[in-house]
Amino acid sequence: MAMVEDRFFSLRVEMVKNQIIARGIKDERVIKAFLRIPRHNFVLENNLSEAYNDYPLPIGEGQTISQPYMVALMTECLRLKGEERVMEIGTGSGYQTAILAELAQEVYSIERFPSLAERAKVILEGLGYKNIKIKVGDGTLGWEEFSPYAGIMVTAGAPEVPPPLIAQLKEGGRLVIPLGESFSQVLTVIEKIGNKIRREEICGCVFVPLVGKYGWHS
Ligand code: SAM
Repeated sequence: MAMVEDRFFSLRVEMVKNQIIARGIKDERVIKAFLRIPRHNFVLENNLSEAYNDYPLPIGEGQTISQPYMVALMTECLRLKGEERVMEIGTGSGYQTAILAELAQEVYSIERFPSLAERAKVILEGLGYKNIKIKVGDGTLGWEEFSPYAGIMVTAGAPEVPPPLIAQLKEGGRLVIPLGESFSQVLTVIEKIGNKIRREEICGCVFVPLVGKYGWHS
């Protein structure tokens, strides 16, 4: 067992070096979180040998755990310092949720598939996280009860920014979201400054669709 864990740790170190640092991720806290979190706990058993590979993997319900580099890039875009309350739309496997929980004070994550939300909850509780709340629902509506959020991360592709997410973003907060067509988007960072919204386009990306009232309609 210890040898298996050692093997996964070596793969994780290689992933961080070759896929994350080599591509320009610089935030030390993000890098440390990637070294700490056992990504292999979040993938399906028949994909275990591919857990640290440079691509997304299936997690059931037609959904995916995102490519490690994309998780790192989106996380770095939030510029978390440790005191923040953040919201994630699209819990999926829970891997990105764990990264956020390492870097912020509290994480509120919403998933539309009950089976994925339940699986992620079990894995995250097993790893001992106490600062994560997960609910099943339409994340395009946000989670008003705990708003405003200093960071919001949307892990599925949207046609436009769901208005409730802008409303629930804290003044000075950052929202990262893939925007565009249903199977090809531009990773975009939205900043809320006063009553103005600033948009920055980061890079092209491909995410599963954000399905909901202010997303795509299934
Ligand atoms: N960050 C996840 C991970 O590390 O495993 C990957 C998430 S996957 C690319 C996108 C997730 O968004 C899927 O689990 C999908 O079911 C979910 N999703 C899509 N539309 C949603 C919505 N309106 N509300 C909540 N979750 C949604």
